[in-house]
Amino acid sequence: MNGKEAETLKKLVSLPSFVDKKNNEKKVADFIFKYLKQFGFLKVSRQKISKDRWNVIAKTKGTPKLFFAGHMDTVPLKNSAQMKVKEKNGKLYGLGALDTKGGIAALLTAIGEMKEIRNTSFLFYCGEEYGFEGMLNFLTKNPGKIGEVGIVIEPTDLKMWNAHRGLIEISFDVEGKCGHAADENSGVSATKAMMKLLNSLELYLSNFSHPVLGKSTLNVAFLHGGLCDNFLVGYRGNIMPDFARSVIEVRTASEKLNSEEISSFLEKEAKKNRVAIKNLSVVHDLGSFFTPEDELKDISKIIHSVVGRTEIISPQKKGYSDGQLISQKKKIPVVYLGPSGGGAHSENEYVEISSLLLLKKIYKGILGKYSD
Ligand SMILES: [Zn+2]
Repeated sequence: MNGKEAETLKKLVSLPSFVDKKNNEKKVADFIFKYLKQFGFLKVSRQKISKDRWNVIAKTKGTPKLFFAGHMDTVPLKNSAQMKVKEKNGKLYGLGALDTKGGIAALLTAIGEMKEIRNTSFLFYCGEEYGFEGMLNFLTKNPGKIGEVGIVIEPTDLKMWNAHRGLIEISFDVEGKCGHAADENSGVSATKAMMKLLNSLELYLSNFSHPVLGKSTLNVAFLHGGLCDNFLVGYRGNIMPDFARSVIEVRTASEKLNSEEISSFLEKEAKKNRVAIKNLSVVHDLGSFFTPEDELKDISKIIHSVVGRTEIISPQKKGYSDGQLISQKKKIPVVYLGPSGGGAHSENEYVEISSLLLLKKIYKGILGKYSD
């Protein structure tokens, strides 16, 4: 027989919360809102993000010590079978089962099993997979103190995930000057300048590494160029092209590296190569994140008491998540903590049922600790 947390997860998976023109997090938000309303120790409210999209916030009495957050959205649906939970060999399969409805189910069940909770606030938020609008909205509209430590629900295999690199995405054009291919001095090739720019940027990034987070790396996500004639890009073998466009994404390991730093480097390099940067636009400018382990001692002890060990996740291969925004804006230690499973962002996403029960115990331990 599965516990309440598994039953709650089945319900959550059956409520779609991917975001497109017709769907959003509303059904999950309504479910959580109604569920939390039944507890007298919680003051529950909604925060509007856009039409029909809401963050759900719940606060207890006391002073703000503990902040708990989990995102309600999932990545887009690929196959309608993903909306129905399938159980097999101790695993529950379904869209969002691991990322991050399993952890939310564990937290909701933990809350329901506590006599009282104090000094805590909870945020169930929109849009983690789509541009971070839920977390950004919450942080701008709640400028005050939210707690002394933040826990963000993400799949972490019951380990503490305390560091990841940042994410900077920039798109820009390079404008050169057409010339005859036979005479290199007759123009400035935009495509060649773009290649040089990207090469020197990659070299430059090696200056920004971190003992825990590792290297800052470059992804050239898009590259396009040639002769630009009224927005149509073509080519002629005998003409040096005047246009190149690129979208780059930098995974930054250092707090010193941001979009401004990269933009001014590109400008300088462009000058050196006698081309101009045009239409530069910063799509994302999200910093790196690192909470030292010694700031998480209380949480580490509670995990140890439930699972018999506490492990830290190596940050090198982990992506960006918006717990970083809490750490940056609120200057508090933040850690991601959630269940075990696999296949996040794929059609075979699953959560280990046994990890949900352990996670619920860990969350209850943490809620009890900070209620004192
Ligand atoms: Zn997630």
